Amino acid sequence: MIALVVHGGAWDIPDDMADAHRHGVQKALMIGFAVLSDGGSAVDAVEAAITILEDDETFDAGTGSFLNLAGEVELDASIMDGRNLRAGAVASVQNIKNPISLARRIMEESDHILLTGKGALRFAKEHGMKSCRQDDLITEREILRWREWQKKKNMSVQEAFRKKKVPLDTVGAVVLDKAGNIASGTSTGGTPNKFPGRVGDSPIIGAGTYADNSVGGVSSTGWGEALIKVVMAKSVLDFMERNGGNPSKAALEGVNMLERKVQGYGGVIALNMEGEIGMAYNTPRMARGYMTSEMNQPWVAV
Ligand code: ASP
Repeated sequence: MIALVVHGGAWDIPDDMADAHRHGVQKALMIGFAVLSDGGSAVDAVEAAITILEDDETFDAGTGSFLNLAGEVELDASIMDGRNLRAGAVASVQNIKNPISLARRIMEESDHILLTGKGALRFAKEHGMKSCRQDDLITEREILRWREWQKKKNMSVQEAFRKKKVPLDTVGAVVLDKAGNIASGTSTGGTPNKFPGRVGDSPIIGAGTYADNSVGGVSSTGWGEALIKVVMAKSVLDFMERNGGNPSKAALEGVNMLERKVQGYGGVIALNMEGEIGMAYNTPRMARGYMTSEMNQPWVAV
């Protein structure tokens, strides 16, 4: 059994953006699945699928990410290997096109888990990764969106989030490979107009990402400040462990807890060791999809 589940954010995705989300998720599933079919590991497939989504300007990850208050892109990403609970992550890193690959390098080539800002960029350069210009990551759409945010000076961020109108296009993937190993990863530009240096749930192991071969894997999306409070990804995995390994029930329980305890919103994808999939969200929409070795083509929905 091989299985791959992907998300591309959970929010009130407008109709005119739905197709682009669907298309991106589908492409990430096809590429990730090809890697798995060729004998690639779960970690390889997570990196491949998320790279596609980071390079797709539709999503808030890599190129096309939201701009912070200062009009800059700052990226967060994490990856976790369920075989040994090794993990790597970057937070507030700039000038890196594919932060998921940097997170993987940190996992595999350092003694650390999470590097931030300048240190993360230095590590990338010392490990042979190319840097890019800020402008390479900034799109016209995000410049316009940023200008709109500057006009809303008096708006309460809490209020905006509670109305579920803040765009949340973070991407994530959870994968079970042929060898029976699970891995998961998440990548984001964070929330629009965030304070410089703000770090959300996505690079926090346990909040944005978790994988453990004895249970399964999870990736989260949504309002990061709320997701961190409930340690979303690990909580969903714990629910799964307690309910006998049912990812759908665990995902739903996680989202219910998020809403009940911290009035948060967002979504999760989850996978167990049998390749069974769970997806839940309390936003109007979530871009999501999956593919397993029992299917001829991916299932995708927005
Ligand atoms: N969770 C991300 C963050 O708060 C945003 C998202 O999911 O789109 O940084």
